[in-house]
Amino acid sequence: MAPGGGGAAGARHLYVHLPFCGHRCAYCDFASEPLAVHLASGRVELYLGRVREEFAAADESLAPALETIYLGGGTPTALPREWLLPFVAALAERLQPGGEFTVEANPETVDRHLLEELRAAGVNRLSLGIQSFSEELRRTLGRRVPQAAVDGALAAVRETGWPEWSLDLVYGIPGASGDDLRSDVERALDSGPSHISLYDLTYTDSFVARLRRRSGPQTRELAEAVAEEHYAQVVDRLEEAGYRRYEVSNFAIPGHESRHNQAYWRLRDYLGVGAAAVSTVGLRRWTNPRRVRAYLEGRPPEAETLDERTKLVERAMLGLRTREGVAMAEVGLVLDENGLARMLEAGFARLEDGYLRLGRRGLDLSTSVIADLLLLD
Ligand code: SF4
Repeated sequence: MAPGGGGAAGARHLYVHLPFCGHRCAYCDFASEPLAVHLASGRVELYLGRVREEFAAADESLAPALETIYLGGGTPTALPREWLLPFVAALAERLQPGGEFTVEANPETVDRHLLEELRAAGVNRLSLGIQSFSEELRRTLGRRVPQAAVDGALAAVRETGWPEWSLDLVYGIPGASGDDLRSDVERALDSGPSHISLYDLTYTDSFVARLRRRSGPQTRELAEAVAEEHYAQVVDRLEEAGYRRYEVSNFAIPGHESRHNQAYWRLRDYLGVGAAAVSTVGLRRWTNPRRVRAYLEGRPPEAETLDERTKLVERAMLGLRTREGVAMAEVGLVLDENGLARMLEAGFARLEDGYLRLGRRGLDLSTSVIADLLLLD
């Protein structure tokens, strides 16, 4: 049973975390552990079994038919196929007709055969982590992915005809010039995905320390300055190419937005299973242990009960990052009247049809603008 279970059932969105990667990237901030070590110790198979158990035990928190399933990591597609495919097929049985089932993949782990098998197993959306088309910049990120693997994965996606797939890029990579950023975006557009995510690189402490050792103290500042100078231009380019910015970092051909992510941003109930996964059902939230061993040992999740105000603040924070914005009637209680007046006056936000939305510049500066708009404790 889910922690504090017994409440209203019915989350229609499921996240499953598979925290294994062939190699750990230097900038990684996700719950990810070395696949080879866990394979050798037999823990990957145990882990899949434990996830199935957790899923079965949490069933009362789930609707019988799911709107979205998202298999993330880690690198789900790095798992041995004889384990991955039946696991995926079993999850897909819970998807409602027309539901969305996304699997995250990295280029060096996919080929045409696997992509066909995933589709046959019920996956209908792929999220491919390219991060950069430049081998040198990928090396800076500590991503050991040869160019041939990137090209091969994109060819395999094309040949297997995915109607929904996302290509993920990061910007603000140390050493990247404005031309590098533009070139990444152009090559992403040439690949023809239905969705592009363009994330600001997270500078984890360990990544910053590595950078300082290798490239000197100014590297991060320089990279951020380049990113800031050229970001607006690439957003324009994506929109001009028909990709609508529907969230600060996410662009989609209209009608091809990620339904799973939209559910998060609308703060719908969702269940997360696996190490580090978070679930929110009603006012209950629980977070599983981050480490694989702790998860396998059955350590209990950290559980908390949210209050209505916290949920409203979260809803406003997430919703204001999206194109659809938030209904004033829903979040009015957590808005700061003075901040709102200032942001409207400055043109960073606007009111339309009872909705509060950030404009283009407001989205670019969303972190500061949202902090000004909300009554935070
Ligand atoms: S592939 Fe993703 S999850 Fe795995 S180590 Fe790299 S950044 Fe982390």
